[in-house]
Amino acid sequence: MVKPSSYFESSDRRQAEFDTDFLVIQDLVKAYPNNEGGQTVILDGINLTVGPNEFIAIIGHSGCGKSTLLKIVGGLERATSGQVFLESQPIRKPGADRMMVFQQYSLLPWLTVRDNVRLAVDEVCHRLSLAQKKTLVEEHLAMVNLTAAATKYPDELSGGMKQRVGIARALAIRPKMLLMDEPFGALDALTRGRLQRQVLDIWERNPQAVMMITHDVDEAIYMADRIVMMTNGPNAQIGEILTVPFEHPRDRTALRESKDYYDLRNHALDFLDRYFEQAS
Ligand code: ADP
Repeated sequence: MVKPSSYFESSDRRQAEFDTDFLVIQDLVKAYPNNEGGQTVILDGINLTVGPNEFIAIIGHSGCGKSTLLKIVGGLERATSGQVFLESQPIRKPGADRMMVFQQYSLLPWLTVRDNVRLAVDEVCHRLSLAQKKTLVEEHLAMVNLTAAATKYPDELSGGMKQRVGIARALAIRPKMLLMDEPFGALDALTRGRLQRQVLDIWERNPQAVMMITHDVDEAIYMADRIVMMTNGPNAQIGEILTVPFEHPRDRTALRESKDYYDLRNHALDFLDRYFEQAS
């Protein structure tokens, strides 16, 4: 097991492992016009490289700019200055290579579970035959255990099921990167735990780059390879990056019996407390 002191560093070791320039965020600044006729700088010089199969959690207090950062990577927002590259190509707009999963499920209520997934596949996978598209949809419904609910409408589903449709929809088009904005935030603790495990199972079978925003330190440690901790806004920056030294697949119970887990957890909570005190 890695000594605690080494995972509180700026994670150069881990960065080197992943350093294939998959996603590169360079000197990113985002400002919005404010009521005084000026600009409020939300994100002030973000630099981060994410590896092709790396699971990154982003943590920080409300309003520090986590969603804004994710939206810029998703191409839904433009940076004020700085650049974001995916496989050396600048990101300027949304693309099927980066799928987003939001806290509020954003399913189309008039379509069944199957058709919600099917619509995304139809929109993106033009080159596939009808039979291939059907297979892709069915495979991904099965992946999130929704085959039996395929003909149901979103209104007939629990929150956890809706989120599984959102995840199946995002994964079915085989994006290079999954961007998740508090994907488990609206779920009760039991469902959240189950869905975290299910997403990890899928990711362990088909590793890909993930950026996930969370408020939950335990969730971040359980799921992520690195935890990016942001300072408060405005002018938020990356305060620290923690490397999570536990191998995948992870066993939640075993993690909680480990001293390293608590050292990491306390370190992250201390960081958040420090910034919480500054904000209040
Ligand atoms: P977080 O996800 O960390 O809670 P956000 O990225 O949603 O933070 O927002 C960061 C800051 O940017 C907040 O103060 C928010 O009010 C502001 N903000 C977000 N979107 C806009 C916008 N379109 N126009 C102006 N301000 C915005």
